[in-house]
Formats: sequence, C-alpha cells, structure tokens
Amino acid sequence: DPRLEAISAAIRVVPNFPKKSFMFSRTGIMFQDITTLLLDHKAFKHTIDIFVDRYKDMQISVVAGVEARGFMFGPSIALAIGAKFVPLRKPGKLPGKVISESYELEYGHDRLEMHVDAVEPLERVIIIDDLVATGGTLSAAISLMESQGAEVVECACVIGLPEVKGQHKLKGKPLYVLVEPS
Ligand code: IMP
Repeated sequence: DPRLEAISAAIRVVPNFPKKSFMFSRTGIMFQDITTLLLDHKAFKHTIDIFVDRYKDMQISVVAGVEARGFMFGPSIALAIGAKFVPLRKPGKLPGKVISESYELEYGHDRLEMHVDAVEPLERVIIIDDLVATGGTLSAAISLMESQGAEVVECACVIGLPEVKGQHKLKGKPLYVLVEPS
C-alpha cells in the first residue's frame, strides 16, 4: 500500500526524548513523534482511511482510545464507522464511576481508567493508540474492556516497534500496525 510510505515519512523521529533512557529500557531512544503526521493532511487522512476501511464492516460498536495520542486518531475512526468513542484515561481524570487497571513501566507502574457505564457486555471493541512497544498499555486497555464483558476484536496502532514483540502480551488479541520505525 503506497499510502504507508507517506505515513512513515510524516512521522518525526526525535533522539533522546523525553530522556536518554525511557520506559521498557529503550536506551538511545528514538521517540516517534506523530504530531508531524497530524500536520500533514494527506498522510493523516491516509492513516484514518486505512483503519476505517479495515473496521467499517466488522460490526464494531466501540472505538477505545488510550490517553493521550489514542485520542488523536480514535474519534475520527469512530465517527466514520458509526461507533462510539471511549477514552481510556490516566488516573483521576474521569469524573464518573471508574474501573482501573495498572500496568508495568520500566520503573514502577501506571494505571488506566474507564467509566463503568461506557460499554455494555458483548459490545465489539477496537482499541487504538499511536504506538505499541511492550504491549503493557494495550494489555491494560484489554483488561478494562473485558472486565465489563465487552469483546476486544483487535488492537490497532499507527506504529509498532519491532524489537519488543508486543503481540505476546496482548492477551491473545490480534494487533494491527501500519508502520515500523525506519
Ligand atoms: P508499551 O506499553 O510499552 O507498549 O508502550 C506504549 C505506550 O507508550 C503508548 O501509550 C505510547 O503512546 C507510549 N510511547 C512509548 N514510546 C513512544 C514513542 O516513541 N512515541 C510515542 N509514544 C510512545
């Protein structure tokens, strides 16, 4: 798909951001910055179009986005496929009754939260984020959905880091990524 080249080219790589070693022991980190993809209308549209084509006929009723960069892709996909958008947020941000799931980071752990009334049992869900590395974040997102009886059909990311096979952590759920860092 020639659109993938345009998407790859629009992602900026920033060495040593946010620090020299960051999460899951990525030393000499090359941060993948999708804000430049958002600046490129064609490449941004290609990104949304590819996800929409994939999910439009799969009876998906929920697109869940992981804070913060999952929020930049998820709502456009949700609107186009006729699904609702559910934000999965960092702790303490959601005002209603939440469920919470913690996950491992390089040092310590973090949590994701979801409103308990955001999904119904048996709803078909896709989970969106900008990038998958170890898969820890997506696994927490899957657990949140499954705790409410929803069915996670697939996890989808713009970027997949090849060196850290996230797939093994995703509780057996399929992972769909558009590009790998060059
Ligand atoms: P994982 O939990 O190890 O798979 O890490 C994925 C999470 O870390 C996602 O929420 C990403 O947004 C974030 N992340 C890690 N590295 C990068 C990067 O290079 N660019 C953008 N986000 C990143």
